[in-house]
Amino acid sequence: MNLTFIGTGYVGLVSGVCFSEIGNQVTCVDKDLGKIEMLNNGEVPIYEPGLKELIDKNKGLGRLRFTNELTEAVHRADVVFIAVGTPSLPNGEANLEFIEQVAQDIALAMNGYKVVVTKSTVPVGTNDKIKAIISQLTSHPFDVVSIPEFLREGSAVKDTLHPDRIIIGSDSEQAARMLVELHHPLTDQIMVTEVRSAEMIKYASNAFLATKISFINEIANICEKVGADVTHVAQGMGYDKRIGSSFLQAGIGYGGSCFPKDTHALIQIAGNVDYEFKLLKSVVEVNQGQRFNVIAKLKHSLGDLKGKVIGIWGLAFKPDTDDVREAPALDIISALLEAGAVVKAYDPIAMENFRKVFEGDETVEWAGSAMDAAENCDALCLLTDWAEFKNVQLSELRQIMNQPVLIDGRNVFTKEQINQAEFQYYSIGRPQVG
Ligand code: NAD
Repeated sequence: MNLTFIGTGYVGLVSGVCFSEIGNQVTCVDKDLGKIEMLNNGEVPIYEPGLKELIDKNKGLGRLRFTNELTEAVHRADVVFIAVGTPSLPNGEANLEFIEQVAQDIALAMNGYKVVVTKSTVPVGTNDKIKAIISQLTSHPFDVVSIPEFLREGSAVKDTLHPDRIIIGSDSEQAARMLVELHHPLTDQIMVTEVRSAEMIKYASNAFLATKISFINEIANICEKVGADVTHVAQGMGYDKRIGSSFLQAGIGYGGSCFPKDTHALIQIAGNVDYEFKLLKSVVEVNQGQRFNVIAKLKHSLGDLKGKVIGIWGLAFKPDTDDVREAPALDIISALLEAGAVVKAYDPIAMENFRKVFEGDETVEWAGSAMDAAENCDALCLLTDWAEFKNVQLSELRQIMNQPVLIDGRNVFTKEQINQAEFQYYSIGRPQVG
């Protein structure tokens, strides 16, 4: 099929590339000229394992193109995917400005029947709005379908080529049939439902996963006080098939461009129909507090943080991505600077993105390697569980630090490793060592 993706970010780019990989003709459109130029010059604007290889291959085979010419790309398409951002407004509601703009642009570019698919995460009822916008501006026939995206940054290519399920929310049988056919090479687990349920499935799924994380983090906080080990507790819970073991890793909480924004948006969606989503409000509150456990543990070990040199390992909100949106590191580093600490930060991939956010802040020292960041530190905080950090020789690390204090925000190291290296070690929900 001829497919056009509008919005060439994490979702639009990865989805577009993967659909070209399974034999479709794909055009990815973005209004950001810099992004399109990079892609046309063989560079990839985001870090995602396996993505560059697939881009090179499918561009070479003539199945994948990048452009900022939306009209021409819509003309050529049987299916037009909307994959632009839906960031939070200050009140937590999803900002639909980009979605509405793209709906208008598509309508004005139409030259015949099109299926318009919303992949962006949008509040219930948004696809009806998109339909209304398009029908006001064109007389060409079209259908609007909701296919929410579930890929995870860091494993986006794998998730897109081998999804757990595809949800197709459609009021049109013809459009649903086309989209089932398009997705069949990826999975047999395809559910066709009505549009509003599809929209809700996305928010409910993210809210549930966020709830699991905040739940285990609260259990971790209690474990610390009663002398239990949350990793064992989670393992024991996870053997129960009704519970499952995923999303039960205690730590400093979730971040990223989806969970924080989508939980806030669902609270607002509920609020708009006079329903107070109390459980989800608590999930958000617990998550926000959890990241500051790092500061509490530092103060417990070092006392006043003024003038103390603190190393930070990991700035991305999770490993294998360069995305720093809503990363715990943003709040933690701000709190450290506010307390008068000197911060030395390192991330294998996300340094540049993070630096943009902290631009002009002279007090952060950007280290060239993990060891550089740790050198002469009074304490080291591991905030993202990159494989690189797990493989560090702790005995060597101890020797280059001022004081052997390690705050492991992701429970990466074992008690045995820590005992051998003689660190004073704090993790999340596990007994303190040293
Ligand atoms: P992103 O910010 O990485 O990319 C969005 C792109 O859209 C940007 O490149 C921007 O320039 C482009 N854009 C905006 N307006 C445009 C316009 N009028 N014309 C052309 N291009 C335009 O966003 P993302 O992370 O890919 O997220 C997109 C949507 O998918 C969001 O609703 C998000 O919630 C959802 N989602 C994201 C993920 C994820 O892991 N990132 C996972 C599932 C769902």
